[in-house]
Amino acid sequence: MTAGADPSPYAERLDRAARVAGEAGLSALLATPGPDLMYLTGHAPPPLERLTLLMVAPDRHPVMLVPLLERPAALASPAADLMEVVGWADGEDPYAAAAGFLPPGRLAVTDQTWASHVLGLQEAAKGRTTFVAAGPAMPPLRAVKDEEELAALAKAASAADAAFADILGVVFAGRREADVAADLADALRRHGHRTADFTIVGSGSNGASPHHEAGERVIAEGDAVVLDFGGHLDGYCSDITRSVFVREPPEEFERVHDVVRRAQQAAFEAVRPGVPAEDVDRAARDMIGDAGYGESFIHRTGHGIGLEAHEPPYIVAGNTTQLEAGMTFSIEPGIYLPGRFGVRIEDIAAVTEDGATRLNEAPRDPQAVR
Ligand code: ZN
Ligand code: ZN
Ligand code: ZN
Repeated sequence: MTAGADPSPYAERLDRAARVAGEAGLSALLATPGPDLMYLTGHAPPPLERLTLLMVAPDRHPVMLVPLLERPAALASPAADLMEVVGWADGEDPYAAAAGFLPPGRLAVTDQTWASHVLGLQEAAKGRTTFVAAGPAMPPLRAVKDEEELAALAKAASAADAAFADILGVVFAGRREADVAADLADALRRHGHRTADFTIVGSGSNGASPHHEAGERVIAEGDAVVLDFGGHLDGYCSDITRSVFVREPPEEFERVHDVVRRAQQAAFEAVRPGVPAEDVDRAARDMIGDAGYGESFIHRTGHGIGLEAHEPPYIVAGNTTQLEAGMTFSIEPGIYLPGRFGVRIEDIAAVTEDGATRLNEAPRDPQAVR
């Protein structure tokens, strides 16, 4: 097949999953509805109590066991002709059906598989199998993105940038955080997002809590406000943070914002193929520490992003994973001053052959809102 003529990435992904599982000493990888199943097959049924199970194993044809009523949808999915699609009927025991084709040995289960399904499979295949979580047992399948995935992530990031531009025009002072959060969700959807998954609006002292849920607090003039929001567009995630202030910034805001901005830039400049993920974290952390705010940066610098908002590689101390071209992750250092305010700046970065590009281009200098 000539380059670019492959109609779907699924054959390569299924082959690679089987090979990587084999290299990790696993006899199969098992995926239930969620990002791994979507990545490997394009099939995205809702996760339910009825078992849907993809088995990918070295030297075997993939098998997907599906509820009989979802078999038509499974057969219409893009990778259907790359695997055997087996239906089980209500009233039958799906775990016994799965046990019929599971190979003996160590079986890796993708991280989002429901406990009820894992326990059912374990019981049905007792004595000849052991089950492990795929995350720790094998290298991540989805960390290096292909061209189409990079384009989808760039599109989601641009839409999040556009939502930020919109939010700069809304009134903050005198409105609740929850009202601004609703505006953010509307803006994400208006710019093409299928879902707005999170809209953090942390005003004043609430901004010092990195995962603050937008609430009833009424935003006041002089507040610093952390805005961290994102969702799904064409299956891929966006995630951006900007920290704005209402009319007049609090004393110290501009200084803290400048430290965070320089830390974010230092981390971005540290990104290159072959660099351990933890070095990117250290670049941001050193900058913040040198400015005297080391104790106030209370989380890792970033997380991978793709079909999931948080996925490998994690940009955190202790992660020696070497970055590769095509990896995508957030760079989001912050400084949190309890009782006062917080500042965080977050962009999605993509590793290139010789460095990195940012997928977000919303302004990183401090922005005033009304
Ligand atoms: Zn977060
Ligand atoms: Zn975020
Ligand atoms: Zn993030």
